[in-house]
Amino acid sequence: MTFLNGFYSSYQVQKQQLQLQTLKSQSAYAAKLGLATDRFLQAAQQQLAYSAKVIADDFYNVTTYQQEVERLRLQTNSFNSTVIVEAKGKVLDVSPASLQLKGHQLQSQGAKQARLVKKPMISEPYISAANNLIIFISHPIFNKDNEYLGYVGGSIYLKEASILHSLLQIHFHEDGSYLYVVDKNRRLLYHPDKSRIGEHVYDNNVIEAVLKGQSGTQELTNSQGLTVLAGYAPLTQAHWGIITQRPLAKTLEPLDGLMVSVLYRTIPIGLATFIFILLLARFIAHPLRDLAHTANMLDDPAASSALKNVKSWYFESAELRKAMLKGVAVLHNRIGALHQEASTDPLTGLNNRRSLDTILAQLIDTNTSFAVLALDIDYFKRVNDQYGHDIGDIVLQSLAGIVSDVTRSSDFVARTGGEEFIVISPNADANTAYALAERIRLSVAQTEIPPVGYINISIGIAGWPADELPIESILKHADQALYEAKNIGRNRCVLAPGYE
Ligand code: GH3
Ligand code: MG
Ligand code: MG
Repeated sequence: MTFLNGFYSSYQVQKQQLQLQTLKSQSAYAAKLGLATDRFLQAAQQQLAYSAKVIADDFYNVTTYQQEVERLRLQTNSFNSTVIVEAKGKVLDVSPASLQLKGHQLQSQGAKQARLVKKPMISEPYISAANNLIIFISHPIFNKDNEYLGYVGGSIYLKEASILHSLLQIHFHEDGSYLYVVDKNRRLLYHPDKSRIGEHVYDNNVIEAVLKGQSGTQELTNSQGLTVLAGYAPLTQAHWGIITQRPLAKTLEPLDGLMVSVLYRTIPIGLATFIFILLLARFIAHPLRDLAHTANMLDDPAASSALKNVKSWYFESAELRKAMLKGVAVLHNRIGALHQEASTDPLTGLNNRRSLDTILAQLIDTNTSFAVLALDIDYFKRVNDQYGHDIGDIVLQSLAGIVSDVTRSSDFVARTGGEEFIVISPNADANTAYALAERIRLSVAQTEIPPVGYINISIGIAGWPADELPIESILKHADQALYEAKNIGRNRCVLAPGYE
């Protein structure tokens, strides 16, 4: 976007600049040519004025006529033809003589006008007696007594080669520029397309402006529907206007080429920058993407190792990773603690009933044989009665410690009721189970628990799958064996019937 914006605005700025420059140069050119044309018309009138004086001084001399018409026409190339006419309109002499007008009565518009106004004048364009589209510049001839004798005049051909053409012939046709001149009636006096000379042009803002005596510049759509940049200047000698113009498309042509080459030069760096930004953005986003991905699996045990693998190469992502790692650790600790809480007995720290069920289900699922030892303290009520409930609790904790010490790590010890415990010994047969039970019983009996002293326990033993019983029945069988042990005197171990 930045690249395109830069390109576009530079195009706009240069276009404006170019237009402005062109408008300026068009107006300067119009002013310059206007001035030159003015000077020329002024000079032409001065020549005629001088000639009028010469003729007046020697009016009835035929050779003077001839000398003057020839001199006027040939000396400066100002006129295509020159003529001296007497007050009633008869031609006294003409140059070139080939026009064969000498002695004729001039009926043309310019001739009549000159006689009528009796002042220096520049005519409107008209078709001359010799059938040329001309303008006619004339000067009256007065004698010393201020008597009107006639006039001397020169014509300038508008469609043939003339001083006006050589003056206005624009030098830079190649860039599409051209100029034209209009008279006060909006008629074209000069135009590069000769066929248009003499044509009236209406509805043209620039012509209207220049005929009001204004000079300046304008962008406009010309009669051919072409947008042009025009400069214009009025002429003061004749009420004419001069307009130079250049098509906008021609003006902007070099800019298009320029912009294409600017584009070619900027594309590689623009593209390289774009790729660089793209790669950098990906590089920056990479750790964030990995972190976001891991954020979806924070409860997964693999989360923290996944987090450790994230390449957080900059400060912000490193901080995020650190915070997430901390969060994961807290989460996992919390989950661990909750798990522990859910599966352990708070008083003794042994497994509880729920984890006993889980372990039994696992053993049955994996078809592992096991023995169940059901433990119960003998006459525990008495302990409570004698020492109070708190001491009773201490006894329970001590007992848990003793049982845990005697059993192996592969054995599973749980507190399942008030003062009842279950030991699961995987892969144990009846003999091993019995031996384990005896070890526990003796160890308890021989350990002093202050302030209570010594206590005894009874143990019932059952096994799976020896008796091929459902899980609930096994526990019931162990309980029954325990009940049996109580019944036959306590402080002993009894195997469930059929478990040998
Ligand atoms: P027996 O030899 O027949 O087992 O006699 P006993 O007194 O131990 O009887 P029983 O097993 O029925 O007694 C259970 C007693 O255990 C009842 C209660 O006072 C005590 N008890 C149960 N749970 C707790 C406990 O969490 N803390 C304490 N201090 N005592 C408990
Ligand atoms: Mg009991
Ligand atoms: Mg008891």
